[in-house]
Amino acid sequence: MSQNLVNIAYIGATILFILALSGLSKQETARKGNLFGMIGMAIALTVTAVGIVTENYSLLIGALVIGGSIGLILARKVQMTQMPELVAILHSLVGLAAVLVGFANFLSHDMNLQGVEKTIHDVETYIGILIGAMTFSGSVVAYLKLSGKWGGRPLLLPARHWLNLSLLVLAIYFGIQFVAESSLGGGLTPLILMTIVALLFGIHMVAAIGGADMPVVVSMLNSYSGWAAAALGFMLSNDLLIVIGALVGSSGAILSYIMCRAMNRNFISVIAGGFGSAPKTSAGPATEIEGEVTPTTVEEVSDMLTSAKEVMIIPGYGMAVAQAQHMVSDITKTLRKKGVNVRFGIHPVAGRMPGHMNVLLAEAKVPYDIVFEMEEINEDFPNVDVSIVIGANDIVNPAAQEVPDSPIAGMPVLEPWLGKTTVVLKRGMAAGYAGVENPLFYKENTRMLFGDAKESLENLFKQIS
Ligand code: NDP
Repeated sequence: MSQNLVNIAYIGATILFILALSGLSKQETARKGNLFGMIGMAIALTVTAVGIVTENYSLLIGALVIGGSIGLILARKVQMTQMPELVAILHSLVGLAAVLVGFANFLSHDMNLQGVEKTIHDVETYIGILIGAMTFSGSVVAYLKLSGKWGGRPLLLPARHWLNLSLLVLAIYFGIQFVAESSLGGGLTPLILMTIVALLFGIHMVAAIGGADMPVVVSMLNSYSGWAAAALGFMLSNDLLIVIGALVGSSGAILSYIMCRAMNRNFISVIAGGFGSAPKTSAGPATEIEGEVTPTTVEEVSDMLTSAKEVMIIPGYGMAVAQAQHMVSDITKTLRKKGVNVRFGIHPVAGRMPGHMNVLLAEAKVPYDIVFEMEEINEDFPNVDVSIVIGANDIVNPAAQEVPDSPIAGMPVLEPWLGKTTVVLKRGMAAGYAGVENPLFYKENTRMLFGDAKESLENLFKQIS
């Protein structure tokens, strides 16, 4: 395949990736966006395999078969609730690839570069391995945290900011040594030492972040994985990889910014760690929260819903765990047929990954035009007759506004308590991901419908129908 054809195909794939990103920004166009992305990736893979690779086809095909099969098995086996962990572990693979390609590139010495060109290439390799190693170890810790294998509490080492600074200084020092030694034919030792430093930095960075701030970390690692791919592109002189990496890197950075804004956090403070930790003055919940929990029944909730005019549904992580989205959709249809105005309020960090609730509601075919972002809907709660909170906790926690030393203090939350009645569907009184008690459950106008969300909704559906 001629270089011109490869270039044309790469430009076509780049345009498709840009269209994919713009499609994914709205629910209505997300499917089309995904399709563009898949076609773009198919073109990119085919053209690279046919047009760029000239030897070792058996290795390439072997890698494609093994990688493709693992991807296929994982995608088919993984539960919707495990998607965030899967995304985190996939980010780690991009980081690992950047490290491995960086070392292979350095050790193969087949580029024969001299002078400034060699220095530039060395710096590219060094930065690529640095970002890759941080992304790899950070994503592995994120995977462990999201899957519950590593506790949600942040690891707050003494003098942690100095530790971070020392690791950064060490990385720069080894970088200078690497470039100097590489020009004389060496450089492996500082490269290995920097890799160890970067791995430790990645672990420390994510371990220091508390449960409530994990959304920022997930989107930040998404961004890092993009930059690691862009670095790979520089090392391999592959323009398409540079462009795709930059697209993923910058869209991940924008997502991190959106997540920070959604949580009213400063990006640098989140990265420096320590947010989301337990409150400093931790009096027991009984002394902190006034009021009593009022349980309710399916019959009562059914009456409330059928006599309501305005209903707001607030889904959270528990809806994903219970896989209750289809039941939610059926109840919504029935209520709408009875003339009830049903809307959905979606918090930007609901669930365990950006857009988690939107994906589930789209899967259950809930119409897009009744699904609203928190910012669009929060002011409407005083007009809402019944809010149904389905397996959500942190995102409806008034402690964010009422308790100044709460780990989630300052995070904007949905405000169902301003409406007439709130019904909370959950199994018990467990705290949410941030580990914070929720005063909403004790408010006078809150009713608790205890049980698995799907079972409760199934019973509710029968009753309403
Ligand atoms: P939370 O994790 O705060 O709360 C979920 C609630 O669901 C729990 O209190 C649990 O209570 C209940 N639940 C679990 N299983 C079921 C079930 N089968 N049926 C009924 N209820 C159930 O979820 P939110 O969505 O409110 O908040 C998301 C949290 O996750 C935030 O702290 C956010 O920062 C964090 N996060 C978000 C990410 C993102 O990108 N969106 C990424 C990483 C973290 P019980 O056990 O009593 O039933």
